[in-house]
Amino acid sequence: MARTIYVDNAATTAMNEEAVAAMTPCFMENYGNPSSLHTVGQRAKEALENARAEIAGLLGAQPGEIYFTSGGSEADNQAIRSAAYVGLAKGKKHIISTAFEHHAVLYTLKKLEKEGFEVTYLDVHSDGLISAAEVEAALREDTALVTIMYANNEVGTIEPVREIGAVCRAHGVLFHCDAVQAVGHIPVDVVKDNIDMLSVSAHKFHGPKGVGLLYCRKGVPLKSLIEGGAQERNRRAGTENIAGICGMAAALRVAVSHLQENMKRESYLRDKLIAGLESIPHSKLNGHRTVRLPGNVNMCFEGIEGESLLLLLDAKGICASSGSACTSGSLDPSHVLLALGLPHEVAHGSLRLSLSEYNTEEEIDYIIREVPKVVEYLRSISPVWEELENGTRKHLI
Ligand SMILES: *Cc1c(COP(=O)(O)O)cnc(C)c1O
Repeated sequence: MARTIYVDNAATTAMNEEAVAAMTPCFMENYGNPSSLHTVGQRAKEALENARAEIAGLLGAQPGEIYFTSGGSEADNQAIRSAAYVGLAKGKKHIISTAFEHHAVLYTLKKLEKEGFEVTYLDVHSDGLISAAEVEAALREDTALVTIMYANNEVGTIEPVREIGAVCRAHGVLFHCDAVQAVGHIPVDVVKDNIDMLSVSAHKFHGPKGVGLLYCRKGVPLKSLIEGGAQERNRRAGTENIAGICGMAAALRVAVSHLQENMKRESYLRDKLIAGLESIPHSKLNGHRTVRLPGNVNMCFEGIEGESLLLLLDAKGICASSGSACTSGSLDPSHVLLALGLPHEVAHGSLRLSLSEYNTEEEIDYIIREVPKVVEYLRSISPVWEELENGTRKHLI
């Protein structure tokens, strides 16, 4: 059967037509360098500033608070390093985060620890949530930064960002939020959400890959990561990715224009998918049932390997993931599922299905029919499942 059902939208998305249309003129007509003083350059500069103003408006920010980057990873790196060094200059060397952040955050923090910073990694509860009270309890006199994600890329849980931001604001501590999975999927407003720094990536909401932004609130100092030209008000050197930035603006405009309708439709499909897959014996939904992204389903099936499940599903035309695209290919179970307290054996058998507005109910029905068959087949050839069935090994879920 030659069909492809793409349910890996947390890894990346297909671009929408509006975003492609916004990019096309940037390649051969509006190709100027915004730093050039002539007409062609100034036309590009105008496109750049229009995109900046539009994106800022859609996030509740001011245009002067938006710094374009090469994506979410760069924005995370810059925000965290900048806040750490700004803090250090005032004698502050403590950072608070969680154990289930994206690797762009976690690995930056690991490097800073080697440079002498101290990081508190808050434990997430088994439902994938943390509380603002826990953040408050972890604050110290020398805390320079709190960095906590808006929504988790593997289990889709939505953190109480507004409350965490309020706690940070009350204590005068900078708050950075990796909102890569949230923007374009649920309402995000940097002012209402009390956010000082926010990371965004276009390719997670039907925009192009290789472009994103860092929001940095007016008055919050921002150090640069890349030295060179004076672009982005001296905070990010390098000729601007005009096509990418215009594509990102269009994609965000489209996403925000039908946000509520999409959230409703996707949550309906998500809940139907969860109900269908939960009928598989010894299965478990990971992350809170309702406080999660409208398009995220993450399940564990006991007695099987997630990688084998993915390969067999791919053969049936279903493109899914075991969790983070960055860790698949390694045999280590997901750090996110381990942070939720799942035992290694269970975390190995995970499946993430992340939906977009392009998925249909018919596709969801097909997945609900096919996944149980594949799980049953894999269990029939699994030595671990045999031990679970004959009682030499205890069921954990
Ligand atoms: C995808 C993702 C990133 C990385 O963004 P890129 O634009 O691919 O560098 C960072 N954080 C989260 C939560 C993500 O899902």
